[in-house]
Amino acid sequence: MTILVTGARGSIGSEVVRALRAGGHEVRGSARDASMLDLPDAVSLDLTAESGFEDALEGIDAIFLYPTARAGAGHFLAAAKKSGVSYVVLLSSPDVREGAAGNPLRQAHLPSERAVRESGLPFTVVYPGWLAGNTRRDWGAAIRAGDPVRLFSPDAQFAPTAEADVAAVAATLLAERSYPGSDLALTGPESMTQRAVVAVLVEELGRSIEVRPETRGEALARRPEWMPAAVLEYLMDAEEAAEKRIAPVNNTVERFTGRPATSFREWARTHRSDFEKAATVHIG
Ligand code: NAP
Repeated sequence: MTILVTGARGSIGSEVVRALRAGGHEVRGSARDASMLDLPDAVSLDLTAESGFEDALEGIDAIFLYPTARAGAGHFLAAAKKSGVSYVVLLSSPDVREGAAGNPLRQAHLPSERAVRESGLPFTVVYPGWLAGNTRRDWGAAIRAGDPVRLFSPDAQFAPTAEADVAAVAATLLAERSYPGSDLALTGPESMTQRAVVAVLVEELGRSIEVRPETRGEALARRPEWMPAAVLEYLMDAEEAAEKRIAPVNNTVERFTGRPATSFREWARTHRSDFEKAATVHIG
Protein backbone atom coordinates (compact mmCIF):
# COMPACT_ATOMS: atom_id res chain seq x y z
CA MET A 1 0.00 0.00 0.00
CA THR A 2 1.59 3.28 -1.12
CA ILE A 3 0.46 6.74 -0.02
CA LEU A 4 0.77 9.65 -2.47
CA VAL A 5 1.79 12.96 -0.88
CA THR A 6 1.11 15.82 -3.27
CA GLY A 7 3.05 19.03 -2.69
CA ALA A 8 5.90 16.96 -1.24
CA ARG A 9 8.12 20.08 -1.40
CA GLY A 10 5.64 22.19 0.59
CA SER A 11 6.26 23.04 4.22
CA ILE A 12 3.42 20.75 5.36
CA GLY A 13 3.73 18.17 2.55
CA SER A 14 7.45 17.59 3.18
CA GLU A 15 6.63 16.89 6.84
CA VAL A 16 3.84 14.47 5.84
CA VAL A 17 6.41 12.55 3.76
CA ARG A 18 8.84 12.53 6.69
CA ALA A 19 6.19 11.37 9.20
CA LEU A 20 4.88 8.57 6.97
CA ARG A 21 8.36 7.30 6.10
CA ALA A 22 9.33 7.39 9.80
CA GLY A 23 6.28 5.19 10.45
CA GLY A 24 7.51 2.66 7.88
CA HIS A 25 4.95 3.47 5.16
CA GLU A 26 5.58 3.38 1.43
CA VAL A 27 5.39 6.96 0.15
CA ARG A 28 5.35 8.54 -3.30
CA GLY A 29 5.88 12.30 -3.40
CA SER A 30 4.77 14.66 -6.15
CA ALA A 31 5.60 18.18 -7.26
CA ARG A 32 4.69 19.95 -10.47
CA ASP A 33 8.36 19.37 -11.35
CA ALA A 34 9.56 16.08 -9.84
CA SER A 35 13.21 17.00 -10.44
CA MET A 36 12.83 19.35 -7.45
CA LEU A 37 12.24 16.36 -5.15
CA ASP A 38 14.93 14.27 -3.48
CA LEU A 39 12.83 11.15 -2.90
CA PRO A 40 13.21 7.53 -4.06
CA ASP A 41 9.65 7.56 -5.50
CA ALA A 42 8.89 10.98 -7.00
CA VAL A 43 6.52 11.96 -9.82
CA SER A 44 5.54 15.14 -11.62
CA LEU A 45 1.89 16.03 -11.08
CA ASP A 46 -0.20 19.14 -11.68
CA LEU A 47 -3.42 18.67 -9.73
CA THR A 48 -5.33 21.03 -12.00
CA ALA A 49 -4.48 19.09 -15.19
CA GLU A 50 -7.21 17.22 -17.07
CA SER A 51 -5.35 13.96 -17.73
CA GLY A 52 -2.02 12.16 -17.49
CA PHE A 53 -2.27 10.92 -13.88
CA GLU A 54 -1.32 7.25 -14.50
CA ASP A 55 2.27 7.44 -13.16
CA ALA A 56 1.21 9.33 -10.06
CA LEU A 57 -1.69 6.97 -9.24
CA GLU A 58 -0.16 3.57 -10.07
CA GLY A 59 -0.47 1.40 -6.90
CA ILE A 60 -1.73 4.30 -4.74
CA ASP A 61 -4.23 3.62 -1.97
CA ALA A 62 -4.48 6.98 -0.17
CA ILE A 63 -3.62 10.62 -0.95
CA PHE A 64 -2.55 13.77 0.93
CA LEU A 65 -3.99 16.54 -1.22
CA TYR A 66 -2.99 20.21 -1.34
CA PRO A 67 -5.64 22.79 -2.13
CA THR A 68 -5.12 24.42 -5.51
CA ALA A 69 -6.30 28.01 -5.57
CA ARG A 70 -9.42 28.58 -7.65
CA ALA A 71 -9.29 25.34 -9.70
CA GLY A 72 -10.19 22.12 -7.87
CA ALA A 73 -8.53 18.78 -8.62
CA GLY A 74 -11.75 17.28 -10.08
CA HIS A 75 -10.19 15.38 -12.99
CA PHE A 76 -7.40 14.06 -10.80
CA LEU A 77 -9.86 12.83 -8.16
CA ALA A 78 -12.04 11.12 -10.77
CA ALA A 79 -8.93 9.28 -12.03
CA ALA A 80 -8.00 8.45 -8.42
CA LYS A 81 -11.40 6.88 -7.79
CA LYS A 82 -11.14 4.83 -10.98
CA SER A 83 -7.68 3.57 -10.11
CA GLY A 84 -8.78 2.27 -6.67
CA VAL A 85 -7.75 5.02 -4.25
CA SER A 86 -9.76 4.56 -1.05
CA TYR A 87 -9.09 7.67 1.07
CA VAL A 88 -8.08 11.34 0.68
CA VAL A 89 -6.90 13.88 3.27
CA LEU A 90 -7.32 17.42 1.96
CA LEU A 91 -5.50 20.40 3.48
CA SER A 92 -7.83 23.40 3.65
CA SER A 93 -8.40 26.66 5.50
CA PRO A 94 -10.70 27.39 8.47
CA ASP A 95 -11.97 30.34 6.40
CA VAL A 96 -14.09 27.85 4.46
CA ARG A 97 -16.01 27.02 7.63
CA GLU A 98 -15.93 30.34 9.40
CA GLY A 99 -15.59 32.95 6.68
CA ALA A 100 -18.34 35.09 5.20
CA ALA A 101 -19.46 34.19 1.66
CA GLY A 102 -17.29 36.85 -0.02
CA ASN A 103 -14.14 36.04 1.99
CA PRO A 104 -11.38 35.63 -0.64
CA LEU A 105 -9.60 32.85 1.26
CA ARG A 106 -12.86 30.92 1.46
CA GLN A 107 -13.38 31.46 -2.27
CA ALA A 108 -9.85 30.24 -3.01
CA HIS A 109 -10.30 26.99 -1.07
CA LEU A 110 -13.89 26.15 -2.02
CA PRO A 111 -13.16 24.56 -5.44
CA SER A 112 -10.78 22.02 -3.84
CA GLU A 113 -13.29 21.20 -1.12
CA ARG A 114 -16.12 20.83 -3.63
CA ALA A 115 -14.02 18.54 -5.80
CA VAL A 116 -13.24 16.26 -2.84
CA ARG A 117 -16.83 16.26 -1.56
CA GLU A 118 -18.17 15.49 -5.04
CA SER A 119 -15.54 12.83 -5.87
CA GLY A 120 -17.38 10.01 -4.10
CA LEU A 121 -14.13 9.10 -2.32
CA PRO A 122 -13.96 8.76 1.48
CA PHE A 123 -12.15 11.87 2.75
CA THR A 124 -11.17 14.03 5.71
CA VAL A 125 -10.52 17.77 5.38
CA VAL A 126 -7.99 19.18 7.87
CA TYR A 127 -8.31 22.82 8.92
CA PRO A 128 -5.13 24.09 10.59
CA GLY A 129 -5.02 27.34 12.53
CA TRP A 130 -2.57 30.19 11.84
CA LEU A 131 0.63 28.48 10.71
CA ALA A 132 3.78 29.19 12.75
CA GLY A 133 5.65 29.50 9.45
CA ASN A 134 3.66 32.67 8.68
CA THR A 135 6.22 34.40 10.92
CA ARG A 136 9.04 33.33 8.59
CA ARG A 137 7.01 34.18 5.46
CA ASP A 138 5.86 37.62 6.65
CA TRP A 139 8.59 38.78 9.03
CA GLY A 140 11.63 36.67 8.13
CA ALA A 141 13.27 39.14 5.72
CA ALA A 142 12.87 42.07 8.15
CA ILE A 143 14.24 40.08 11.09
CA ARG A 144 17.21 38.79 9.09
CA ALA A 145 18.00 42.35 7.97
CA GLY A 146 17.67 43.76 11.51
CA ASP A 147 14.68 45.91 10.44
CA PRO A 148 11.49 46.45 12.47
CA VAL A 149 8.64 43.96 12.13
CA ARG A 150 5.71 46.06 10.90
CA LEU A 151 2.34 44.92 12.15
CA PHE A 152 -1.09 46.27 11.31
CA SER A 153 -2.52 44.77 14.47
CA PRO A 154 0.11 43.78 17.08
CA ASP A 155 -2.59 42.74 19.56
CA ALA A 156 -4.43 40.37 17.22
CA GLN A 157 -4.47 36.86 18.69
CA PHE A 158 -3.70 33.59 16.93
CA ALA A 159 -2.80 30.07 18.06
CA PRO A 160 0.42 29.42 16.10
CA THR A 161 0.20 25.92 14.65
CA ALA A 162 3.37 24.00 13.75
CA GLU A 163 3.42 22.64 10.19
CA ALA A 164 4.92 19.39 11.55
CA ASP A 165 1.86 18.99 13.82
CA VAL A 166 -0.52 19.43 10.87
CA ALA A 167 1.55 16.82 9.04
CA ALA A 168 1.61 14.43 12.00
CA VAL A 169 -2.19 14.51 12.23
CA ALA A 170 -2.55 14.04 8.46
CA ALA A 171 -0.06 11.14 8.52
CA THR A 172 -1.99 9.46 11.35
CA LEU A 173 -5.25 9.83 9.41
CA LEU A 174 -3.68 8.39 6.26
CA ALA A 175 -2.02 5.49 8.06
CA GLU A 176 -4.87 4.51 10.39
CA ARG A 177 -8.09 5.55 8.59
CA SER A 178 -9.83 5.30 11.95
CA TYR A 179 -11.41 8.77 12.05
CA PRO A 180 -15.04 8.57 11.01
CA GLY A 181 -15.55 12.32 10.47
CA SER A 182 -15.03 14.34 7.32
CA ASP A 183 -13.82 17.61 8.95
CA LEU A 184 -11.00 18.06 11.46
CA ALA A 185 -9.81 21.40 12.86
CA LEU A 186 -6.44 21.56 14.60
CA THR A 187 -4.57 24.35 16.34
CA GLY A 188 -1.44 25.14 18.28
CA PRO A 189 -1.58 24.93 22.09
CA GLU A 190 -1.99 28.60 23.01
CA SER A 191 -3.65 31.85 21.92
CA MET A 192 -0.97 34.56 21.61
CA THR A 193 -0.92 38.16 20.41
CA GLN A 194 1.38 38.84 17.47
CA ARG A 195 3.40 41.05 19.83
CA ALA A 196 3.88 38.04 22.16
CA VAL A 197 4.92 35.88 19.21
CA VAL A 198 7.64 38.43 18.33
CA ALA A 199 8.71 38.47 22.00
CA VAL A 200 9.31 34.70 21.85
CA LEU A 201 11.46 35.20 18.74
CA VAL A 202 13.43 37.89 20.59
CA GLU A 203 14.15 35.46 23.44
CA GLU A 204 14.99 32.52 21.20
CA LEU A 205 17.18 34.52 18.80
CA GLY A 206 18.83 36.43 21.64
CA ARG A 207 18.52 39.85 20.02
CA SER A 208 16.09 42.73 19.94
CA ILE A 209 13.35 43.05 17.32
CA GLU A 210 11.38 46.28 17.11
CA VAL A 211 7.61 45.96 16.57
CA ARG A 212 6.39 48.94 14.56
CA PRO A 213 2.61 49.32 14.18
CA GLU A 214 1.51 50.40 10.71
CA THR A 215 -1.67 51.81 9.20
CA ARG A 216 -3.89 49.98 6.73
CA GLY A 217 -2.58 52.23 3.93
CA GLU A 218 1.06 51.53 4.83
CA ALA A 219 0.41 47.77 4.89
CA LEU A 220 -1.27 47.94 1.47
CA ALA A 221 1.56 50.06 0.06
CA ARG A 222 4.16 47.41 0.87
CA ARG A 223 1.96 44.45 -0.12
CA PRO A 224 4.06 41.61 -1.54
CA GLU A 225 3.38 40.82 -5.21
CA TRP A 226 2.05 37.32 -4.47
CA MET A 227 -0.62 38.63 -2.07
CA PRO A 228 -3.81 39.94 -3.79
CA ALA A 229 -5.00 43.26 -2.30
CA ALA A 230 -8.42 41.72 -1.50
CA VAL A 231 -6.74 39.00 0.55
CA LEU A 232 -4.61 41.50 2.47
CA GLU A 233 -7.70 43.66 3.17
CA TYR A 234 -9.52 40.58 4.41
CA LEU A 235 -6.55 39.53 6.60
CA MET A 236 -6.44 43.01 8.18
CA ASP A 237 -10.19 42.86 8.90
CA ALA A 238 -9.63 39.43 10.48
CA GLU A 239 -6.75 40.80 12.57
CA GLU A 240 -8.89 43.67 13.83
CA ALA A 241 -11.59 41.21 14.89
CA ALA A 242 -8.94 38.99 16.52
CA GLU A 243 -7.86 41.84 18.84
CA LYS A 244 -11.05 41.41 20.78
CA ARG A 245 -11.11 37.66 21.28
CA ILE A 246 -8.75 34.84 22.07
CA ALA A 247 -8.03 32.41 19.27
CA PRO A 248 -9.66 28.96 19.38
CA VAL A 249 -7.41 26.21 20.78
CA ASN A 250 -8.20 22.49 20.58
CA ASN A 251 -6.55 19.19 21.50
CA THR A 252 -6.63 17.54 18.06
CA VAL A 253 -2.83 17.19 17.85
CA GLU A 254 -2.70 15.35 21.18
CA ARG A 255 -5.73 13.19 20.32
CA PHE A 256 -4.14 12.02 17.08
CA THR A 257 -0.45 11.89 17.93
CA GLY A 258 -0.46 11.14 21.66
CA ARG A 259 1.82 14.14 22.38
CA PRO A 260 0.99 17.77 23.11
CA ALA A 261 0.90 20.29 20.28
CA THR A 262 4.19 22.09 19.60
CA SER A 263 4.43 25.47 21.33
CA PHE A 264 5.55 28.51 19.32
CA ARG A 265 8.69 28.61 21.50
CA GLU A 266 9.57 25.04 20.52
CA TRP A 267 8.87 25.86 16.86
CA ALA A 268 11.09 28.97 17.06
CA ARG A 269 13.91 26.97 18.66
CA THR A 270 13.96 24.48 15.78
CA HIS A 271 13.59 27.21 13.11
CA ARG A 272 16.10 29.71 14.53
CA SER A 273 18.30 29.56 11.41
CA ASP A 274 15.38 30.82 9.26
CA PHE A 275 15.66 34.17 11.06
CA GLU A 276 19.42 34.43 11.29
CA LYS A 277 21.43 36.60 8.92
CA ALA A 278 22.97 34.70 6.02
CA ALA A 279 26.75 34.78 6.41
CA THR A 280 28.41 37.46 4.25
CA VAL A 281 31.37 36.24 2.23
CA HIS A 282 34.06 38.88 1.54
CA ILE A 283 36.29 38.12 -1.42
CA GLY A 284 39.57 39.95 -2.02
P1 NAP B 1 3.68 25.69 0.64
O1 NAP B 1 4.91 25.36 1.40
O2 NAP B 1 3.56 27.02 -0.02
O3 NAP B 1 3.47 24.56 -0.48
C1 NAP B 1 2.40 24.60 -1.38
C2 NAP B 1 2.44 23.27 -2.16
O4 NAP B 1 1.29 23.23 -3.03
C3 NAP B 1 3.69 23.14 -3.01
O5 NAP B 1 4.35 21.97 -2.65
C4 NAP B 1 3.13 23.08 -4.43
O6 NAP B 1 3.81 22.14 -5.23
C5 NAP B 1 1.72 22.59 -4.21
N1 NAP B 1 0.86 23.00 -5.35
C6 NAP B 1 0.39 24.23 -5.62
N2 NAP B 1 -0.33 24.21 -6.77
C7 NAP B 1 -0.29 22.94 -7.24
C8 NAP B 1 -0.81 22.28 -8.37
N3 NAP B 1 -1.54 22.94 -9.31
N4 NAP B 1 -0.57 20.96 -8.53
C9 NAP B 1 0.17 20.28 -7.63
N5 NAP B 1 0.70 20.84 -6.52
C10 NAP B 1 0.48 22.16 -6.33
O7 NAP B 1 2.39 25.52 1.52
P2 NAP B 1 2.25 25.07 3.05
O8 NAP B 1 2.82 26.12 3.92
O9 NAP B 1 2.71 23.67 3.24
O10 NAP B 1 0.66 25.10 3.17
C11 NAP B 1 0.01 26.31 2.86
C12 NAP B 1 -1.44 26.03 2.68
O11 NAP B 1 -2.03 25.73 3.95
C13 NAP B 1 -2.16 27.31 2.20
O12 NAP B 1 -2.21 27.31 0.80
C14 NAP B 1 -3.51 27.18 2.80
O13 NAP B 1 -4.29 26.49 1.86
C15 NAP B 1 -3.33 26.28 4.01
N6 NAP B 1 -3.48 27.01 5.27
C16 NAP B 1 -2.63 28.05 5.59
C17 NAP B 1 -2.77 28.72 6.79
C18 NAP B 1 -1.83 29.84 7.16
O14 NAP B 1 -1.93 30.34 8.29
N7 NAP B 1 -0.94 30.27 6.29
C19 NAP B 1 -3.75 28.33 7.70
C20 NAP B 1 -4.61 27.27 7.35
C21 NAP B 1 -4.46 26.61 6.13
P3 NAP B 1 5.04 22.47 -6.22
O15 NAP B 1 6.22 21.78 -5.61
O16 NAP B 1 4.64 21.90 -7.51
O17 NAP B 1 5.23 23.97 -6.25
